[in-house]
Amino acid sequence: MIRQPIVSILGHVDHGKTLLLDRIRGSAVAAKEAGGITQAIGASIIPIETIKKICGKLLDSLNIKLTLPGLLFIDTPGHAAFVNLRKRGGNLADIAILVININEGLMPQTIESINILKQYKTPFIIAVNKIDLVNGWRSQKEKSLLKSISEQSDYAVKEFETKLYTIVGKLFELGFESDRFDRVNDYTKQIAIVPVSAMTGEGISELLMVLTGLAQRFLEKNLKLTEGPAKGTILEVKEQKGLGKVIDVIIYDGQISVGDTIILGSLNEAIVTKVKGLFEPAHLTDMREQKSKFNAVKKISAATGVRIVATNLENVFSGMPIFVADKNIEELKSKVQEEVEQVIVENQNNGIIIKADSLGSLEALSFLLKEKNIPIRKSSIGPINKKDVSDAESIYEKDPLNSMIIGFNIPKPAEEYEKVKIITNDIIYKLIEDFEAWQLEQKRKIELKEIENLVQPCKIQLLRGYVFRQSNPAVVGVEVLLGTLKSNTPLINTEGKYLTTVKGIQKEQENVDKSDKNQQVAVSLPDVIIGRQLKEGDILYSEISEAHFRKFKEFKKYLTNDQKEVLKEVSAIMRRNNPVWGV
Ligand code: GDP
Repeated sequence: MIRQPIVSILGHVDHGKTLLLDRIRGSAVAAKEAGGITQAIGASIIPIETIKKICGKLLDSLNIKLTLPGLLFIDTPGHAAFVNLRKRGGNLADIAILVININEGLMPQTIESINILKQYKTPFIIAVNKIDLVNGWRSQKEKSLLKSISEQSDYAVKEFETKLYTIVGKLFELGFESDRFDRVNDYTKQIAIVPVSAMTGEGISELLMVLTGLAQRFLEKNLKLTEGPAKGTILEVKEQKGLGKVIDVIIYDGQISVGDTIILGSLNEAIVTKVKGLFEPAHLTDMREQKSKFNAVKKISAATGVRIVATNLENVFSGMPIFVADKNIEELKSKVQEEVEQVIVENQNNGIIIKADSLGSLEALSFLLKEKNIPIRKSSIGPINKKDVSDAESIYEKDPLNSMIIGFNIPKPAEEYEKVKIITNDIIYKLIEDFEAWQLEQKRKIELKEIENLVQPCKIQLLRGYVFRQSNPAVVGVEVLLGTLKSNTPLINTEGKYLTTVKGIQKEQENVDKSDKNQQVAVSLPDVIIGRQLKEGDILYSEISEAHFRKFKEFKKYLTNDQKEVLKEVSAIMRRNNPVWGV
């Protein structure tokens, strides 16, 4: 026996995921004499008879024997729901539909969806949606796509093909070969694109046909059912009046009954509890009004969604695994906890702290961060708390480029911290972008500070007729020719010989710390006598050590042309005695 493949719908906001799912379910409801649709918790199951009715002759063209009992669609579209369908080593969804608005093409969340699908190695097809809005297109309700195309004007077909192949081109740039489903030669190498309109229903039959055909041909071996105890993934944890916490679970294998012992992953250790109740939605009247009415059942078999009532569900989050225990409670407990600990980690390495709302979203976030080589020190579920902030603070001195907390799908705390940067978002690529921008800025600040601590490049000239004092210390007027003169700057002459260190700087009788280019100031210079080591009109440079010179070279991008000029002149002087100075 094999089960229904689990299908998830992803894509950019407003590209039509919700309407597409409604349209698919609507077509199934309309085909009800063939078996209609079964509403489960969090999922809609379309039996194969219904699919046959919707697809008609299209399925015959596949030339394969259908053994699938149908398709199971996850009711919540989007990648938040998708990542929560995690299963050890992958995702629960056997296949996904990526929805792309034909008129907008690939958008940020489309690319994020592709990244996530790639991460989970989930096969997908693409529904290029909203074809009814292509210029010149004349829609006809519920038509097969190919029939609809054959009835369009040349102009509309041209518009349509241009847009379609722009998408194909963009996908190619991302490393994917794709084509319109009826032009695909090899489904293992090319992604099938089915143009549809969720609004008019055009192409829905082809979409179901391609999904069914692919699942039947390539996924069958993954869909074998066993008779044993159930395995599942928590889709959602909910609060239900009078019952407290309940969990909505997708059961992908085996069976579960009231009274069974179940093992679930939690933050701390695996939870062992008993099934007190199992619920399914009451018979479907309106697909979208499945909120309040439930029927209690004694037992259910995979694959389906079910609400489980049990005690002790406090630390349970969506994305956690759930198993019915036979005799093997201890074994399952460690299996479950080991799985959770692969995602919730804490180590002593350098790295950032990440938090997310569920095990699935945390896993997706860690994966995509790791792909970007962003190191993670701690990852956990739940809101950002004081402990996270103090942990991130403690790393500031050692690793200031990682004193960051990233929150995915969780609220941003109101407080701001000096040494810890917190960013939150519900789009991973935005988090990565913000993190990279922050890290660059942080790096810049650190480097600028480092530069400030170096001896500043500067070239000065002793003015003629401004010797205020000959020695002990000498006080003379100078002009800054290039760079900035700071007090405590050691000075060399044009032979590279150290002479003295600038003590005080006075400008118009006021003490100042520094003086900029073209300014004339009086400086006091200990340990030199004017007329002996130094005379009026002499040029002096700040003494840049080789180490500082190399640092300046490293941070060249922050230097002004004047600073670069001084460094060039200083190195020329030093290299007269030592040709490899500063190299
Ligand atoms: P989601 O955010 O991806 O779930 O997008 P929705 O399903 O909510 O659709 C966003 C908007 O696009 C809604 O106003 C839909 O009615 C509209 N829409 C979705 N699919 C189509 C389509 O095929 N054609 C047209 N004309 N509008 C569509």
